[in-house]
Amino acid sequence: MTRLLLPILYLFLPLTAVGQVSVRIFAQSRPVTVIFTTESGEYLLDDGNPGTLHLLPGETVAVTRYNDDVVYRTLSGTYGKADSLSFEPVTGNALCRLRAPGSIEQDKRLDGALRIKSFPGSLLVLNITSVESYLPGVVRAEAGKYGPADYFKAQAVVARTYIYRNIGRHALDGYNLCDDTHCQVYPGIIDDSVITGACHVTSGEVLVDRDSMLIVAAFHGNCGGLTASSADVWLAAYPYLVSVNDPWCSFSASSEWRKSLPESEWHKFLTMKGIQYGEESALYSASGGTPVRTAGRMAGGKTVSSEELRSYFGLRSGYFAITSAGDSIIVTGRGYGHGVGLCQDGAKHMAEKNMSYDRITGFYYPGTTITDIKNARRPLKP
Ligand SMILES: [Zn+2]
Ligand SMILES: [Zn+2]
Repeated sequence: MTRLLLPILYLFLPLTAVGQVSVRIFAQSRPVTVIFTTESGEYLLDDGNPGTLHLLPGETVAVTRYNDDVVYRTLSGTYGKADSLSFEPVTGNALCRLRAPGSIEQDKRLDGALRIKSFPGSLLVLNITSVESYLPGVVRAEAGKYGPADYFKAQAVVARTYIYRNIGRHALDGYNLCDDTHCQVYPGIIDDSVITGACHVTSGEVLVDRDSMLIVAAFHGNCGGLTASSADVWLAAYPYLVSVNDPWCSFSASSEWRKSLPESEWHKFLTMKGIQYGEESALYSASGGTPVRTAGRMAGGKTVSSEELRSYFGLRSGYFAITSAGDSIIVTGRGYGHGVGLCQDGAKHMAEKNMSYDRITGFYYPGTTITDIKNARRPLKP
């Protein structure tokens, strides 16, 4: 019994150790071939057969899926077939470039180790690295390129909290997180010194609630002056994802918008909802059409949720007013995104006004505190 269990424990423990993360690379395009190039430092290539191959700077290895195996060929002429391939860095400065030929995904520069094996229909490419060296790329992809240091510090703490809370998200697939929007977009190693600095000075810091539990660190582009409660948007209530008045984001161009809906589309929607002609007037806002944040609106005994309207008509947010203007329907709204948690435009503006990152996170996630990951607890289910 012990002999059966030991190899399994050995396989899973290193992947869930605090500080380390395994990320599926090219999760969106799922290529059948990848090209590995040593950019700096040196790697050892292990194909499971006796002996390893030393990869010097500039060395290139093409890896292709071949049924349940992978085949590889180096620029210098070595080739082989294996169950799985492992690229282990042997110098501290080891950095590689990974390319997926024929894919729309850009090349990625990666540190740490790589494991490549066959997966149904594609290659499974895993990057095993540290949370702290994975974080800057995530922050740039999720938070943008420009902003003051404390904005990026707040985003670093938020993204790190997301990573640790969701580290079991792909446990059934044999890794921690993917590099696509399903988890957090990871473009690879970046050079931006403001972002890498913001990650470095907040190293290990995460957001927890009053029970020391890692929070659901939701964020969005612009709340339009009032954030949304998660209970209204996702039907899941958290004491720190409540509606907050936000005076910091109204300067932004995306804080106000207007959309005209063709009457035919509007009637198609009402018919789908079972709302009779004439009953829909209950959905229209009073004169002036001031946007409201509400979980839903009632018409003819039917509830129409704001999120339903947002996704059906591709509205920029769930914070809006509906008015009838003769032969068209006008939706007037505020903000961009789901509106829950940290408002990025507001957070950026707070940082521009010299407010510190912990004040920013405390404002958007009331009742939470920043602590080291060593003191945080993780729920069994993300
Ligand atoms: Zn994912
Ligand atoms: Zn806002």
